[in-house]
Amino acid sequence: GEGIMRFREMIRDIPDFPKKGILFRDITPLLANGLLYQQSIQTLAEFCNQCQAQMVVGPEARGYVIGAPLAVVTGCGFAPVRKKGKLPYKTRSASYALEYGEDTLEIHEDAIMQGQRVLVADDLLATGGTMSATIDLVQQLGGIVVGAAFLIELKELGGRQVLLDKIPQLPIQTLVQYD
Ligand code: 5GP
Repeated sequence: GEGIMRFREMIRDIPDFPKKGILFRDITPLLANGLLYQQSIQTLAEFCNQCQAQMVVGPEARGYVIGAPLAVVTGCGFAPVRKKGKLPYKTRSASYALEYGEDTLEIHEDAIMQGQRVLVADDLLATGGTMSATIDLVQQLGGIVVGAAFLIELKELGGRQVLLDKIPQLPIQTLVQYD
């Protein structure tokens, strides 16, 4: 609808960030527009409710900008996923491949109860590496991933299929897609 068109207009393209050849999709203009930010969260919140999620889990740092307000609006709890070494309590970890090397994400071992229904959320789905590791963490704790929500999907990078290979039929909601 009309609202969705305006989401796209408020995403700024930054060429060659963080390095040459990468076109970065900057969501800060969208976040700065209170009404659009609220509309984007409300739309994802409807999806979250349809999934009957009990918890929202998001990876640092932009995953919090989406995941935390989603949790508040839906009445879900929120659990943060962070880069290795940042969380203070006992953790579980999951590694994922980067272009060069790998990165490790962590979650508190008591963040999710066995059998809890979890929505995973981030600002953007690219290769799916970040969200795959986040899903691994939820599954390690016995959580059931019932949906994945993003503002943006970069379709050519194939992240959607990566997530569906992990969890067939996983409901995935993205508000703005780029080919
Ligand atoms: P993936 O792991 O799916 O390849 O990359 C997605 C992750 O990297 C997300 O956590 C996202 O915040 C970040 N990311 C990668 N590219 C972009 C981009 O162009 N814009 C924004 N806002 N985040 C990006």
